[in-house]
Amino acid sequence: MNEKVTVGKEFELLKKRFSDARECGYYSIRERKLLRNSIMAVDYVKSFFEGTSHLPPLEESASTSWGKTFNNLWRAFSYIEEAERLLDGAHLYYDIKKRGFFVEDKIISFLAFDGKVNIKCINSTKLVEEARKIHDLSPVTTAALGRLLTMGSLMGSNLKEKNDKITLQIKADGPIDTMIAVASNDGNVKGYIKNPNIDIPLKSNGKLDVGGAVGKNGMLYIIKDIGLKEPYVGLTPLVSGEIAEDFTEYFAKSEQVPTAIALGVLVDKDGVRSAGGYIVQLMPDATNEDITILEQNLRAMPPISKLLEENKSLEDIAGMITGDGMLFMVGEDLLPEYKCDCQKSRIKNGLISLGAKEIQNIIDTDGKAEVVCKFCKKKYEFSKEDLEKIKEECK
Ligand SMILES: [Zn+2]
Repeated sequence: MNEKVTVGKEFELLKKRFSDARECGYYSIRERKLLRNSIMAVDYVKSFFEGTSHLPPLEESASTSWGKTFNNLWRAFSYIEEAERLLDGAHLYYDIKKRGFFVEDKIISFLAFDGKVNIKCINSTKLVEEARKIHDLSPVTTAALGRLLTMGSLMGSNLKEKNDKITLQIKADGPIDTMIAVASNDGNVKGYIKNPNIDIPLKSNGKLDVGGAVGKNGMLYIIKDIGLKEPYVGLTPLVSGEIAEDFTEYFAKSEQVPTAIALGVLVDKDGVRSAGGYIVQLMPDATNEDITILEQNLRAMPPISKLLEENKSLEDIAGMITGDGMLFMVGEDLLPEYKCDCQKSRIKNGLISLGAKEIQNIIDTDGKAEVVCKFCKKKYEFSKEDLEKIKEECK
């Protein structure tokens, strides 16, 4: 990098905006546009080196074409440097395929209305895309499982202890049949769907028919394992199969907490464009006036997936929910991921539970076993010797 190259005014401005943005801790649409410049720069560098076997001579003068190129290249590197530095603290990542910087998945908790209203917002775009890839989901099942995973991550983040687990299960009469999301208190979540390849017509408004794919007659199960002797099990009949409504009903009936929930997944042929949600809960001391304001704001909210696609931050979204109300961030941000915690020992226990007779059957027919984790599709191999040992443990 040539230090002598004149730094353009535009670049100085860019650097200032980057540092302003970093101080704010998040990025407005304007800053995001600037980040896009760096993506263009990355593309520029890539195209520059493609088919070029050596670096051209360094020229300072912008009057020659190489000089101009180098000036641009230097700027490109600076953009990348800036961008990489930003990636550190800003939880952005560069997606090579989509050629862009994207916000890492995040959960932020807020208190509003003098602590009388609790708001939790999540951007789950990356983890839902991960689920789509792992389970080879169709658009409608991406939306369905994506919503459940998003809810799982939100509810998981409410758990107190590291080893606590929450399982959300929907079993209904739609073609999906069964969906499961399991989450822990860091917001990490994994999921399973019985029929991932469902393709059903869009609704009359052009939206994916999640309710049709899930089914309207069925149950929602919430299983909290918080280290007690027996896990807590809550259940409620489905309202619409659209998931957010079903969970709203669950909170009203089973936990007696007035709750508003939004969950959304925007998916196209290239994958998940955006996914996220929020959960708004009233504390017992919320006044009727607070509730009226909240209801008005919530009714006016555009779909969460649209807001995220427009690069609205979670702070922006929480701000829209409260209107002019003061907003306080609570606790640390979480960076949830699609994460499976499967282990060979646990898979082995699953085999042991089949019983000696069944294990012998596997030995006789296949001579070995391959077990695939239903949450992450990781394959576990068991040789004949492994199976013989497992058979011994059955007794
Ligand atoms: Zn797994």
